[in-house]
Amino acid sequence: MKVKIRKGDQVEVVRGLSKDKGNRGEVIKVLPDENRIVVQGINTRTKHQRQVQSQGRTVNPGIIRFEAPFSLANVALVCKKCNKATRVALIREDDKTKRQCKKCGAMIDD
Ligand SMILES: [Zn+2]
Repeated sequence: MKVKIRKGDQVEVVRGLSKDKGNRGEVIKVLPDENRIVVQGINTRTKHQRQVQSQGRTVNPGIIRFEAPFSLANVALVCKKCNKATRVALIREDDKTKRQCKKCGAMIDD
């Protein structure tokens, strides 16, 4: 399967993730082998950091907030032209595969 979502894309949560459904964010990381992605501000989790002793001082105990990976199938790409969450058509042009918005027909990649 070709990955249609890339790092730096704006995506919208269209299914699953009830807490974040309808929210948008920028793709931070794509994990193609797992079909998962990490998106800014989406699927955030907190993790409790244990206290760390460093040179006699206690360093930064507390809660760390981070974005957990989730399934690519839960998001759709947001088209820059029509600003809608859309499906994408892949078009081969010369040696590159470009993406086209199925809603407005605009090319997503320059
Ligand atoms: Zn569009």
